[in-house]
Amino acid sequence: MDCLFCKIIEGSIPADVVYEDDHVLAFKDINPISPLHVLFVPKVHFVDLSDSYEKEEELLYVFKAIRNYVAEENLNDKGYRLVINAGELGQQTVAHLHVHLISGRQLSWPAG
Ligand code: AMP
Ligand code: ZN
Repeated sequence: MDCLFCKIIEGSIPADVVYEDDHVLAFKDINPISPLHVLFVPKVHFVDLSDSYEKEEELLYVFKAIRNYVAEENLNDKGYRLVINAGELGQQTVAHLHVHLISGRQLSWPAG
């Protein structure tokens, strides 16, 4: 399967990994939009939430990993944002579900 994030998970494409467990890999976004910009990726390939049937537990693992990372990085006080882009209107560019963790600067809302 020609999936960039599967290749990063396999190790055939390098990434700046900040967290890994049996179910989840997290690495720095190559084109960060904030001082802290990490992508949390389930190791099992699925495209988006609509593709997650029978794989819902992978979503739980991803959010547990985010919760723990947020605590370790002391982001609960500072604040942060989680984003899942989906489909064309949502400007998803990599077709393997991932959650953006964005922090380290004042964020604005609504996002553009
Ligand atoms: P999305 O637009 O939500 O699909 O997000 C995909 C993200 O992957 C973008 O923020 C890209 O900057 C990031 N990205 C693309 N290639 C790499 C890579 N090789 N390593 C790390 N992040 C990447
Ligand atoms: Zn994949």
